Amino acid sequence: MKILAVQFSTETNTFISKLTTRTDFDERGISARDVSLHPFLPSHDLFLFFRQAAEADGHQYHEGLVASAEPGGPLAQEDYEEFRDTIIQDAERVVPDVVLLLLHGAMVSQEVMDCEGDILHRLRKVLGSQTVIAAMLDPHAHLSAQMVEASNLLVSMKEYPHTDGLQTAQALYALATSAAQGGVHPVMVMKDIPVLGIWPTQTPEVRSLVDHAKLIEQSPDILSTSFIHGFPWGDTPDTGAKALVIADGDYERAQTEAQRFAQRVWQTREASQPQFVAFGEAISIAQTHRSRPTIIADTADNPGGGAPGDATYAVHALLEADIDRAIVATLYDPDAVAVCFNAGIGEQLPLSIGGNDGVSSGVPVVGDAAVLALNQELRQTGFDLEAGVTFGRAALIKIKGVHIILSERRAQTLSPDVLTNMGVTPSDYQIIVVKSTNHFYECFSAISSNIIYATSPGALTCTFAEMPYRYASTAYWPRLSATDPTLGLTKTQKAS
Ligand SMILES: [Zn+2]
Repeated sequence: MKILAVQFSTETNTFISKLTTRTDFDERGISARDVSLHPFLPSHDLFLFFRQAAEADGHQYHEGLVASAEPGGPLAQEDYEEFRDTIIQDAERVVPDVVLLLLHGAMVSQEVMDCEGDILHRLRKVLGSQTVIAAMLDPHAHLSAQMVEASNLLVSMKEYPHTDGLQTAQALYALATSAAQGGVHPVMVMKDIPVLGIWPTQTPEVRSLVDHAKLIEQSPDILSTSFIHGFPWGDTPDTGAKALVIADGDYERAQTEAQRFAQRVWQTREASQPQFVAFGEAISIAQTHRSRPTIIADTADNPGGGAPGDATYAVHALLEADIDRAIVATLYDPDAVAVCFNAGIGEQLPLSIGGNDGVSSGVPVVGDAAVLALNQELRQTGFDLEAGVTFGRAALIKIKGVHIILSERRAQTLSPDVLTNMGVTPSDYQIIVVKSTNHFYECFSAISSNIIYATSPGALTCTFAEMPYRYASTAYWPRLSATDPTLGLTKTQKAS
């Protein structure tokens, strides 16, 4: 049996105007046929698993394109088509029995709102109905009917932070190879859930949803259950939360479980959503904590959701509160990094940082900065898919009592080694601000239980009731009241 494994993934924030281009994929590295030549690729370990498993099972393993980029604005159409067509050419070259794809699910190009549906549809067209097309998704996906129709298996990670990349890849491999050999007969059912929000899986309420999905999977006739959270900052006709259940040959059964899971998400909609506070309030709360540090998540400026990463709301709030021993990790400003490198460690200089990308970035911070440390390449470890992400050159500066790590590249903050790799100790700080929505939690919760989710007018505001959608359905809670008769699940609940 011939297996082809490929990746083409990024998450598109359609409210960001700056296009994502080939250069953004180049920053992480692009592999044409062999990831072992690219040890820093975020998905390196997953492809090694695919290769080892396929060879151990006596299959012919082929690798095609492996490319991913930090989330950002829509993909430049030309670059999107080039990557997409490379995958199609890989498939035409190999003529596989099984295609394993790592996709995100929320990729949007200048002209295509359902990029993953487009890719899967074109693959089906060239490979025919006999090939098993199986894709792993991020739960922050816009799951579409086109994606479901064009593929045999779609399996999403269950954890957020996404710590279960490898387990999901293993499950996908096992299901796909079994389906190709006639061992299982996957039938997929997708069910819309009219709720917009985020679901950090470390909270008890969301944990119970993950447990419920796993419980459904224990049934012998259910092959997989995915909770698609949706990605609220992508405005497409397919935006929204979904339940996706794959049964073994039994469509009715998949439908029943998908409906049941959707109802459970609906019932826990309020309790499952985290609380967000303004920066000023977050800082006040942090000052009441006896143990240090307190981690404040700058959720609205998370580069991992496509935000510019140079918003200054946190720095301004810390300066206004006159906080001593606070650090912001990180702030994207390649020009300021270059100025610091020219000046050198120990120099004091007037500097303008951040605030370069419009309203969501705030106004620049201007002040006398001391250059405390420089790093030619600031790397952070993370978990699974995000291992080895680089910030490029980085400078640690100090303005009054606030330390700021300036970076040359946009990346989400995932691990405290961003601080230690700049030569500072996390526990020395009263407040650590991280630019992340929830992925930081996995590694930062190991050094502190004081964690606050802050929001600001950044690019990823969590005011879900007011999303300025043009294409996505606006019939969802919390935009509409839970008792609104136009919300589909409410009607179903009454009927049952
Ligand atoms: Zn995600």
